[in-house]
Amino acid sequence: MAGKSCELAVIGGGPAGLAAALSAWRQGLREIIIIERDKELGGILNQCIHNGFGLHYFKEELTGPEYAGRFIDLLSGTGVEVMLDTMALEITPKLEVRAVGKTTGYSVLSAKSIILAMGCRERARGAVCIPGTRPPGVFTAGTAQRYINIEGYMVGKRIVVLGSGDIGLIMARRLTLEGATVLGCVEIMPCPGGLTRNIVQCLHDYDIPLYLSSTITEIRGRKRVEQVVVSKVDESLAAIPGTEMVLDCDTVLLSVGLIPENELSRAAGAVVDSQTGGVLVDENMGTSIPGVFACGNVVHVHDLVDYVTEESDRAGAAAASHVLL
Ligand SMILES: Cc1cc2nc3c(=O)[nH]c(=O)nc-3n(C[C@H](O)[C@H](O)[C@H](O)COP(=O)(O)OP(=O)(O)OC[C@H]3O[C@@H](n4cnc5c(N)ncnc54)[C@H](O)[C@@H]3O)c2cc1C
Repeated sequence: MAGKSCELAVIGGGPAGLAAALSAWRQGLREIIIIERDKELGGILNQCIHNGFGLHYFKEELTGPEYAGRFIDLLSGTGVEVMLDTMALEITPKLEVRAVGKTTGYSVLSAKSIILAMGCRERARGAVCIPGTRPPGVFTAGTAQRYINIEGYMVGKRIVVLGSGDIGLIMARRLTLEGATVLGCVEIMPCPGGLTRNIVQCLHDYDIPLYLSSTITEIRGRKRVEQVVVSKVDESLAAIPGTEMVLDCDTVLLSVGLIPENELSRAAGAVVDSQTGGVLVDENMGTSIPGVFACGNVVHVHDLVDYVTEESDRAGAAAASHVLL
C-alpha cells in the first residue's frame, strides 16, 4: 500500500477538476494531485466531438476535446501531478483519499484540502420505469455517444430517442450522420428540454420528428429491441389510452436526465441536497466538511462548460486559501 501526502487532492480530471487544479496552482499551491479514473484527462468533454464549447470563456467555438485540450496544455506547464486509471474509493475524516489504480494498486493520499469534481451520471431505464421486456438495445444517450465517438461502434440502425435533453438531441444528429434512421425524439413535457439551437440544428435540420407530450409506454423485443409503443400523455403526464403509435426500431436511447455523482461525498459525510442530488456548497464552493470543496456537475448539472470553469476557478482559489492562510 503506497502512502503519499499533498496540499490538494482533486478527485476527477474533467473540466471542473482541471480548472480547479490550475487555479490552485496559480494561487501558490505546489503539491497538487489530480485523481482520474479514466485513461485520460478531459472528462465527458472527450466524447463531445460537436462544437459549441467555450463561447463565453474563450469567445471561440470549440469542440469538447479542444476545450479540454486548452486546460490540459496549461496544466502541463505546471507541477500538478496526475494519477490516471485511478478510482477514488473513500475520503476519511482525516482528509485521506483512498484510491485504487491499475498501475499504482491501492494507495492512501493524505491531503490538506480536497476538491470534489466527479461530474454526474445519467439516469437509466430503472429511473423512468418503462414497462415491457428487457432486451438489449436500450442505451443511455451518453453511453451511445461514448461508443460511437470513442470506441468506434454504432449502437443501432433504427433509433428512437426518449427525452429531448441536449445529449439526446446531439445523439439524434450524430447517429443520423453515421447512417442510422432516427424515427423520432419523444418528450413527455409539452416543450422540449434542450437548447433551442439544438432543436433546430439536430432535429429540424435532419427532419427528425419531435413528439411532445408523449412517452414510451412499452418496449417490445426479446433478443433485441423490436418495437416501442409511444403514447400521448395528459396534463398529469399519464398515458392517454387509444393514442398508441407503434414504431419498429432496434434501439432506444434514453436522455432522461443527469444526477450529480456524489456517492463519495455522501459517504464522507458532506451534506447533499435531497432534491437535486448536488453537494451543498457555500459562496466559496466549500462543502459542509472543512477543507473539502466542490465544483462542476457534482454541485449541479451545468448546461455550459464555461460556467463549470468559472466556478472551478473559485473552488481552486478557495482551497489554496484554506491551505496557505
Ligand atoms: C453529452 C453532453 C453534451 C454536452 N454538450 C455541451 C455543449 O455543447 N456545450 C457546453 O458548453 N457544455 C456541454 N455539456 C456540459 C459540460 O460538458 C459539462 O457540464 C462538463 O463536462 C462538466 O464538467 P465536470 O468536470 O463537472 O464533469 P465531467 O466532465 O463528467 O468530469 C468528471 C470526471 O470525474 C471522474 N471521476 C468520477 N468519479 C471519480 C472517482 N471516484 N475517482 C476518480 N475519478 C472520478 C470522471 O471519470 C470524469 O473524468 C455537455 C455535457 C454532456 C454530458
